[in-house]
Amino acid sequence: MRVASFRYRGQWRVGRVEPESERVLPLAVHDMLEVIGATGPLPVEAPLPLGEVELAAPIPHPARNLFCVGKNYREHAAEFAASGYDTATPAGPGDGAYPAVFTKPGTCVVGPYDRVELHASLTQAVDYEAELAVVIGKGGRDIPAERAMAHVFGYTIINDVSARDRQKNHQQWFLGKSLDTFAPMGPWITTADEVNERDLTVSTWVNGELRQHASTADLIFDIPHIIATISAGLTLQPGDIIATGTPAGVGAGFTPPKFLRAGDTVRISIGNLGTISNTFG
Ligand code: MG
Repeated sequence: MRVASFRYRGQWRVGRVEPESERVLPLAVHDMLEVIGATGPLPVEAPLPLGEVELAAPIPHPARNLFCVGKNYREHAAEFAASGYDTATPAGPGDGAYPAVFTKPGTCVVGPYDRVELHASLTQAVDYEAELAVVIGKGGRDIPAERAMAHVFGYTIINDVSARDRQKNHQQWFLGKSLDTFAPMGPWITTADEVNERDLTVSTWVNGELRQHASTADLIFDIPHIIATISAGLTLQPGDIIATGTPAGVGAGFTPPKFLRAGDTVRISIGNLGTISNTFG
């Protein structure tokens, strides 16, 4: 099942998307959390043409910060270290290493086709990061990796937009990654039963030029490991969102760097999760 948040004739709704027939079936709920918490099938209303609704982020106003994993693909960790914006070297679970986890406030979330602000007075180094995002269904604390997948409702796409100069200048990632509009998300949530999260192709194009192309099979810390790590002593809640990290090919990895400019469009596709496309300016 694919579930989207959308606006139709001025009203915000949640509905089941059928991409093949280009329809969306509105659900009799107030928001996505009700869908996540539902224990049985939800009644649907008369279908609407998908092309006539305005898709929002599937969870437009997350209750808490987005959890994000940094440097979770080896090639990206290497390019990031080489860029001068960071110095850490890649390591994995077998090395006794721990994943880097940070957060972005829910206020930076925008829809799958919304404009992203370049904040030109604050930064000259805005970059894209295509990421598979996990949506938590059943909350819990101290979730063991073996049972972690039972806590996943589904998956969506996030662009973890990042101001590299602010990441570097403030010696911490929060300010550089938390500017308004810096988390385009969508186009909908695909439920876990329809996703092989262990092998999804992640692709990013900037103005049509392929920049990132990798598989989630290359994650250093896999999703069960990430959920176990974050939920250790910290209660995860239904609707929490975890972005799992970006593969190689970000703008900072090029020499010279290819940071985003006004008018650039970043398009991200992940496996069978759909596509988001955002113009910067
Ligand atoms: Mg990231």
